[in-house]
Amino acid sequence: MRSFIIGRFQPFHKGHLQVVREILKKSESIIIGIGSAQYSHTLRDPFTAGERHLMISRSLEAEHITNFYLVPIEDVNSNPLWVAHVQALTPKFDAVYSNNPLVKRLFYEAGYSVFSVNLLNREKWSGTIIREKIIRGDRWQDDVPKQVAEIIEEIDGVSRMRDLTRTDAINGHTAP
Ligand code: ATP
Ligand code: MG
Repeated sequence: MRSFIIGRFQPFHKGHLQVVREILKKSESIIIGIGSAQYSHTLRDPFTAGERHLMISRSLEAEHITNFYLVPIEDVNSNPLWVAHVQALTPKFDAVYSNNPLVKRLFYEAGYSVFSVNLLNREKWSGTIIREKIIRGDRWQDDVPKQVAEIIEEIDGVSRMRDLTRTDAINGHTAP
């Protein structure tokens, strides 16, 4: 059985890693959709799809996990078209794991087996909380795999995020 999970992974954290491990106990392989792939350089979505790809692949390789496929998936902003959009980009899969009620509903209606994910250590392992810590200057490095902290350092991600809080852009978009 091949399984599918989607997230924005801004950034990929230890909760994500744990959920991948859990899913792989029950599946031959996992397809990880990198959602909202077209966004980067905003406070909600600071990292590019390529940077997130590297965060996930390096973290999983360090765990000796090789049975995964990473697929960047841009938003289509049309719920009835979304499952077909995902299917067009991914290897075939049988099961979907998600907490998001809309994601679950859309895949259920498309005939997939849909399973819930247990949220672990959510007071720490949450993208929103980790992004807030990075901006405040609190310690966040323990909440992500070591490889993710290294990549954020490599790409000067902390300064990027601090700059984003100081942007003069309107609605987070670049403006002349
Ligand atoms: P954000 O706060 O930016 O939404 P997030 O931590 O919710 O970040 P997502 O990228 O939205 O991360 O996560 C995608 C999926 O990963 C979630 O729908 C959920 O299934 C799973 N997930 C996220 N955090 C955890 C966690 N702490 N434990 C288990 N699964 C998690
Ligand atoms: Mg989320």
